[in-house]
Amino acid sequence: MLHKEHDLTNVSFTFGLDNKEARLAVMSQDGPKVSKADYDMILDIRKRKDTIPIIFDSKWIERHQDDTNKDYPTMDTWTLLNIEMDMHAGKCYQQHKEEECPNITMANESLTVWIDEEKLSCLDKQMLCDKVFARTGKVEKDKSTWTCKDFWKERENIPEAAMEHIHWEALKKALAISPQGTQRWTLKHSTGQCGVGRMLQRWKYQEHSLCPRCGEQDETTKHAIQCQAVDVRQRWKTGIKALRQWFIMTSTEPDLQHAIFQRLEEWHDNKPRRPVHTTNRLLREASLDGGPFSKAE
Ligand SMILES: [Zn+2]
Repeated sequence: MLHKEHDLTNVSFTFGLDNKEARLAVMSQDGPKVSKADYDMILDIRKRKDTIPIIFDSKWIERHQDDTNKDYPTMDTWTLLNIEMDMHAGKCYQQHKEEECPNITMANESLTVWIDEEKLSCLDKQMLCDKVFARTGKVEKDKSTWTCKDFWKERENIPEAAMEHIHWEALKKALAISPQGTQRWTLKHSTGQCGVGRMLQRWKYQEHSLCPRCGEQDETTKHAIQCQAVDVRQRWKTGIKALRQWFIMTSTEPDLQHAIFQRLEEWHDNKPRRPVHTTNRLLREASLDGGPFSKAE
C-alpha cells in the first residue's frame, strides 16, 4: 500500500473533484442508497477510504474553467490540475469508448448480485422485479432462467389450477399496506429464509436442526407454526380467535368463514382435506377445482 511505502500514516490528504454529487457520495456521513447508480463503486471507494489510516478531505473545483478563459497563469493549482485531468479523461474515453464495459466485483464488496451473468452495480427495485417476475427464454433444466412463480410452483408443489386462482394482485395490495415488520416476517417465513433449525444448521450457526420447543428434526418455518408444543398451540388458538373476531367485524360470509377455518385447522394439524359442506355455489365450486379450498389429491 502506498501509505505504508511512503510512511503516510496519520497524514491528511485533500482531493479535488469538479462533480459536486460524486464528492458528496464519497465524503458524506450518510451511506449511499442501494438504488444509486454506481452504488458498488461508491461503496468500494468509501470502504477503502475508511480503512486507510489517512485523514481524507475534499475540495470542489469549478469544472471547464478554460472553456471561457485561457489565461492559465492566473489560475490556481487546483484549477490547472483539474483541466489536465479532464484532458486525460477525454483521451482515455476516446480510446476505450467502443469497448465493452462489464461490471466487475469490487475488492471491498461484501455482497454481489448477479443476474444473467451480469453483476448489478446497484439495486433498482423495479428492474429487479421485472427480471425476476417477467423473465423470458425459460430453459426447463436451468432454474436460473425460470420466473419466480415457476420456481415456487415447483418447490412448493402447487397445482397449476391453484396458481391461477391465487389473487396475486390482492396479495400484493395487502402486503403493501401491512406494517414493515409484517412484510418482512411474511417474506422470510413464506420463503423459509429465517432463523429456524434448518437454516441455522445450513448457515453453520448450530450443528443440529432441531425445533427448540418440541425437539423435532428439521425445524422449518412451516413447522414453527404447525409445531404441536403447548405454547405454540396456544399461540395458534389466540391467532385463530383474533381472525374470527376480524371476520365478524368485517361481516364475512359465515360459510366462507367456516371453510377458511376448516382448511386452516386441517393444514395446522397436517390432516387430509375434507369436503367443504356449503350451500354457497361459488364456494362449493372453489372447493372442487384445485384451489386452496379444494380437496387435496
Ligand atoms: Zn416443534
